[in-house]
Amino acid sequence: KQQMARGLPKRKAIAGVRQVLLVASGKGGVGKSTTAVNLALALMANQPSKAVGLLDADVYGPSVPKMMNLKGNPQLTDDNRMLPLTNYGVPCMSMGFLVDDDAPIVWRGLMVMSALDKLLRQVEWGSLDYLVVDMPPGTGDVQLTITQSIPIAGAVIVTTPQDIALLDAGRGAQMFRKVNVPVLGLVQNMSTFECPKCGQQTAIFGSDGARRLADSLGVALLGDIPLHVQIRQTSDRGEPVVVSSPGSPEALSYLNLASAV
Ligand code: ADP
Repeated sequence: KQQMARGLPKRKAIAGVRQVLLVASGKGGVGKSTTAVNLALALMANQPSKAVGLLDADVYGPSVPKMMNLKGNPQLTDDNRMLPLTNYGVPCMSMGFLVDDDAPIVWRGLMVMSALDKLLRQVEWGSLDYLVVDMPPGTGDVQLTITQSIPIAGAVIVTTPQDIALLDAGRGAQMFRKVNVPVLGLVQNMSTFECPKCGQQTAIFGSDGARRLADSLGVALLGDIPLHVQIRQTSDRGEPVVVSSPGSPEALSYLNLASAV
């Protein structure tokens, strides 16, 4: 009723999904997908009885297939719904499963919107406690459509500690507030780099930028993920650090994030 009064369309839940968590970023390349993938795996590791799914809504640049080491076309149910592809116990759906690997995603406008509708409405997730959504970077039409068409438990915004990324993250937070999506907090990614040779810690992009932005927005700083070569390598290999190196400090930073969310 409140939504109708504010002129927003009525949101309709995704069948079988209890809570939707968005992982967003103001700009690209800050580690949003890496965070989404490891967060989904960490939620499951922390709460083994819960079912967690991962929706790659980064329609222009899907990275979940590679990071989760999945490829192929989804099978269809009798009523033409798409079955997710599963790895490490997490069912996943991505634009990357629907288009050819080599085909550039030059889709615009209507085509993206109809694909998005498929990803939101025509996936047979079964029963999920959490659906983690890897959002496209920024604050465009796709982001608005997602926030307005499904009920969302909250959004997590990934940023580096650097000024320019922080500015964009702030804009992202404001977009969510405008459409009444709770901002759960910020994740500071690529904060400290520890030299593998001497152990010295360097804050390459600065150290407390996200803390300051979180304070000024009045939201929590949910996590701090170090800049570590293992995070990059494991993502590229399709064996995210939370599953391939569960005892490492890097994995722990994601497990802590999952507890804070
Ligand atoms: P986005 O989704 O924001 O575009 P990605 O998650 O694709 O960003 O990350 C961009 C690149 O940075 C990838 O190569 C990824 O492996 C790497 N990366 C992300 N986070 C970290 C980190 N904490 N440490 C090292 N490399 C990282």
